[in-house]
Amino acid sequence: MIKSLHKRESELANSKRQLEILSNGIFQKGALPTFKEKISETNQFPLKAKKLEILQINVGYMCNQVCEHCHVDAGPDRTEIMARETMLQCLEVIKNTGAHTLDLTGGAPEMNPHFRWFVDEAYKAGIKDFIVRSNLTILQANKKYHDLPEFFKKHHIHIVSSMPHWTRGKTDKQRGDGVFYTSIKALQELNAVGYGMPNSDLRLDLVYNPSGAFLPGNQTSMEKDFKKVLLDEFNIRFHNLFAITNLPISRFLDYLIASENYEDYMYALVEAYNPSAVKNVMCTNTLSVSWDGFLYDCDFNQMLQLPVNSKIKHISDYNEDLLEGRTIVTSQHCYGCTAGAGSSCQGSVA
Ligand code: SF4
Ligand code: SF4
Repeated sequence: MIKSLHKRESELANSKRQLEILSNGIFQKGALPTFKEKISETNQFPLKAKKLEILQINVGYMCNQVCEHCHVDAGPDRTEIMARETMLQCLEVIKNTGAHTLDLTGGAPEMNPHFRWFVDEAYKAGIKDFIVRSNLTILQANKKYHDLPEFFKKHHIHIVSSMPHWTRGKTDKQRGDGVFYTSIKALQELNAVGYGMPNSDLRLDLVYNPSGAFLPGNQTSMEKDFKKVLLDEFNIRFHNLFAITNLPISRFLDYLIASENYEDYMYALVEAYNPSAVKNVMCTNTLSVSWDGFLYDCDFNQMLQLPVNSKIKHISDYNEDLLEGRTIVTSQHCYGCTAGAGSSCQGSVA
């Protein structure tokens, strides 16, 4: 099992170092335009936050997996976990916000010891779309997680899970040995309680991200292929496939540098830049809360330690009016959200 950048004491565990790499080299020399320069060409700089629609809460960086491309640098050795006190502050906001979507992420959110209590409480707020990003293998990792499909069903949770490929080889290479078949088993158990069925409102969506230094293909045709193979070979059904682009940060940045693909990848992202994808990037209607309650424009900015550009910095001081209209903090990693059809945590956006 590979280790997190933090455990390896890699220089890339430091977000400042990542931002330096993203600002120096090809961008400093002017070989490629910075993201700011690029979106200025169509008068889209600065990006501004609109009305909040999605509240994304990262309940901790601990995970049972150590995927090669993880932008969180999550793993079993990460100890950052949201405390109940911070969850209480989040609950206050969840009860009072007009946001239609609550999105719990991690790490493996299920590993937070307060996870079930938090889901119970948040569910009572009656948010329209309550997402949990489950890595699937956690449902099989230990007996104490085996009843989670029923628990999710009871709370009408919308499950969004990574599945980088329908073949064992590609999935295990990116996510670790044994992940493919364990994920298949977890998907079958979710299907067994009603998730992912054609007319079921128990939503089960999968997320595809490329297994190397290339951009994702067409989301619609990939979804067709995934559906066919998973049904034919494993009798698995799911609703939608979201194809997302790997952003050049954290462990994917480490991978790009180690494989000597960093510059080519940045060229590919800039070449695939699509100005019409800019208006739909997720930071314009999302707020990301870290395990310790600080606020970010998106999960990627959270990992780069780029806090919101507002005097409201923490969930305990939350004020929707003051956060609306803030200028979004951007850097070169943002090219990952505007390449091709655009990409967000919810797949293609344009
Ligand atoms: S399952 Fe998700 S959070 Fe965990 S290491 Fe893999 S990508 Fe990161
Ligand atoms: S990385 Fe974050 S801040 Fe940058 S465009 Fe994407 S969502 Fe917005």
